[in-house]
Amino acid sequence: MSTQSPSAPPVLVLFRDDFRLTDNPALHMACTTGQPVVCVYVQDPATRREGAIGWWLDQSRRALAEALTAQGGELLTVEGNTPDIIPELVTLFKADTVLWNRRYDPVGKEQDTALKTTLGLRQITTHSLSGRLLHEPWAVQTGSGQPYKVFTAWWRAARELGAPGRCVPAPSSLTFAAWPAAVKALATKAAAIPAPTLPEGAADAAMDWPCTEADAQDFLKDFVDDNVARYSTERDRPDKDTTSRLSPYLRAGLISARQVWHSVEAAIEKNGAISENAWTFLSELGWRDFAYMQLFYQPTLPTENLRSEFNDMPWHDDAALLKAWQHGQTGYPLVDAGMRQLYQTGWMHNRVRMVVASFLTKHLLTDWRKGEAWFHQRLVDADPAQNAMNWQWCAGTGIDASPWFRIFNPIGQSEKFDPSGAYIRTWVPELRHLPDKLIHTPWKADAALCRQIGLHLGTTYPHPIVELKAARTIALESYKNLPARQKDE
Ligand SMILES: Cc1cc2nc3c(=O)[nH]c(=O)nc-3n(C[C@H](O)[C@H](O)[C@H](O)COP(=O)(O)OP(=O)(O)OC[C@H]3O[C@@H](n4cnc5c(N)ncnc54)[C@H](O)[C@@H]3O)c2cc1C
Repeated sequence: MSTQSPSAPPVLVLFRDDFRLTDNPALHMACTTGQPVVCVYVQDPATRREGAIGWWLDQSRRALAEALTAQGGELLTVEGNTPDIIPELVTLFKADTVLWNRRYDPVGKEQDTALKTTLGLRQITTHSLSGRLLHEPWAVQTGSGQPYKVFTAWWRAARELGAPGRCVPAPSSLTFAAWPAAVKALATKAAAIPAPTLPEGAADAAMDWPCTEADAQDFLKDFVDDNVARYSTERDRPDKDTTSRLSPYLRAGLISARQVWHSVEAAIEKNGAISENAWTFLSELGWRDFAYMQLFYQPTLPTENLRSEFNDMPWHDDAALLKAWQHGQTGYPLVDAGMRQLYQTGWMHNRVRMVVASFLTKHLLTDWRKGEAWFHQRLVDADPAQNAMNWQWCAGTGIDASPWFRIFNPIGQSEKFDPSGAYIRTWVPELRHLPDKLIHTPWKADAALCRQIGLHLGTTYPHPIVELKAARTIALESYKNLPARQKDE
């Protein structure tokens, strides 16, 4: 039963990439005030996303709006610059409190700091809460108070902190503040803004990614029931597809990292035998926090090499090679399968993300920022921290990154992680009739077999766009000859 009084001044709750009712600390705190609530989403040009992620966040916003409607209220969507429009809403509603869950990206941090200052000057109460990560970026530090630069040390220290805070429940009932006429006008104006649409060719994303809080819970339950027990052994197998597929849900905040953590921890308590696999999985949530910690302290993570010697890297700028990579036409089946999965569904298996990133940056010697930008446009889980950190990791330009000389061989990776070619056959159908031993190297198929299965190399499927050994040698030489690196030695 609600104890909220509709006559008290309302509390504004801001939703930004946390489109959920359960374990939403800002919403939970609003309900404990006993005041009516206004749930607000700002269509802010400074933070608007395009591409698959723009579509996904918009779907998530709509799902939240429906969930609030089911509670007898509405999600108020307005357009504007967050630090300007929120004080305007405070005035229109005569609200006395504004609550939100924290953001860690540079624009988000800057906007929320400005908002806090503006509202503080008007004696409006504000609270920013922790709803996105397991641990705040500043909570895990070295003995001398510095951010960690190595994941294993960070993870050890994070584990010493113990489990993240408990999850807070969804409100059992909400009292919503009535909207004044001027607010209704703002909502009508925002409703006229065209919604972001899926990028060309990505229609499968709408089928693959059902979009509600309950769907996120279903993905979690399926994973904990069926797959967490074999996570360590199978997580690198794109053909098995047994990872959690929670990344889009975590990205939009349809589920919180804490909810995932506690659910897996409860499974470990029930069945200790899964512990090792489950902890490997939890460490991946650790990588997510580690990425946010990097973005928090290094706001240029998505745009600048964290290791400055790479500023002199003679990246190639070949538009045709980049396009072949983007569209899965490199002639290397695992790379092409991954890039086509991304194009059609907005998602790609982690192992394959690593292979295609290594191929782009090392075999094609292309600046990692071009790969990061393409991923950002096509991924439904595109995230400024995780995408940038992982690209810098794969390119060797980041902290605790894979060394430059570690160059994945796309054929070896394919043979090891997709041994029967099931993943390749799904995404590169023109190769599906090749026998297992040739699926990784179609150019070795003889003319008679190609004729028999209708494979015309150079026409229906490309010849390899680079020769691996030569490309590898160029990549290694380019790094060896970096002037900044030579100075260091
Ligand atoms: C080049 C590259 C770019 C990437 N870009 C993104 C991105 O934009 N958004 C994104 O969410 N992930 C990104 N990742 C990380 C990883 O590939 C995805 O999180 C993972 O594939 C999602 O599938 P899952 O949910 O089944 O993962 P699971 O294996 O089930 O892992 C559970 C969760 O842990 C987190 N996680 C897993 N691996 C990583 C990792 N390497 N770094 C950080 N967090 C991780 C994710 O939130 C994931 O949902 C990228 C990886 C690479 C190599």
